[in-house]
Amino acid sequence: MIREFARQVDDVAATDGSGAALPVAKRDKLAWRVLVPAAGPLAIHYTVYAHELTVRTSHLDTEHGLLNGTSVLMYPVGHQGEPGTLALALPEGWQAYTGLSPAPSGAPGWFQFSNYDELVDCPIEMGTPAVQRFAVGGIWHEVVVTGAGSLNLSQLAADRERLVPQAAQVFRGLPYGRYVVLLTEADRGGGGLEHRNSAVMMLPRFAPAPTAAERHQRVLHLFAHEFFHAWNIKRLHPDRLGPFDYTREAYTDNLWLAEGGTDY
Ligand SMILES: [Zn+2]
Repeated sequence: MIREFARQVDDVAATDGSGAALPVAKRDKLAWRVLVPAAGPLAIHYTVYAHELTVRTSHLDTEHGLLNGTSVLMYPVGHQGEPGTLALALPEGWQAYTGLSPAPSGAPGWFQFSNYDELVDCPIEMGTPAVQRFAVGGIWHEVVVTGAGSLNLSQLAADRERLVPQAAQVFRGLPYGRYVVLLTEADRGGGGLEHRNSAVMMLPRFAPAPTAAERHQRVLHLFAHEFFHAWNIKRLHPDRLGPFDYTREAYTDNLWLAEGGTDY
């Protein structure tokens, strides 16, 4: 399957260091070519339709924003290995939560990345979510919940705190400096998507209601599954599953180990 995120991109324009417009041509379904006359600053401007609330897409409205970098952030072809800074212009009162490290400037909404892979492997939740924090072995973990409905958040964080050392025991330690769970109770849909030091999860708010205890148990199962992926898939994976060629789909016959092993 090809997700074809580029179909949501519109109004692509480019300017040079003096603000003068540069010619832009769409080259194929996901690439634009800018004719740059000389070395110097280059700014690319574009609009992205972001109103699809799933664990792999982006959703922005007046209440919150969920950014999955692969669906909103272009990369300069041939420069994916270069570091950079991401600056988010946040509405008053909003905060951004992500596995990315804050930029040295310390400005709110500013983050740094060492390459494009790291940038898009760190989804970002923005808004005013409910946040629980705890430390395991001196490493901070955050559980960020948007649209919290029936969940018992403090119990979830407490149970997650017990779950983390269990996985750490299997792999002899925690492989990251910080870990963030971005959980949304959405109108519909559900599931999870793993990342190196974070995970995005969604629960259907109006799903046929099991008991509160069953619902809690389901979230813990999702927590445990996506967390185990921090090792099995994100650090130990079939060669087709990273580093990625973002222009192509990736085929593998090894999900029996990547997903089956994780569930087991
Ligand atoms: Zn999985």
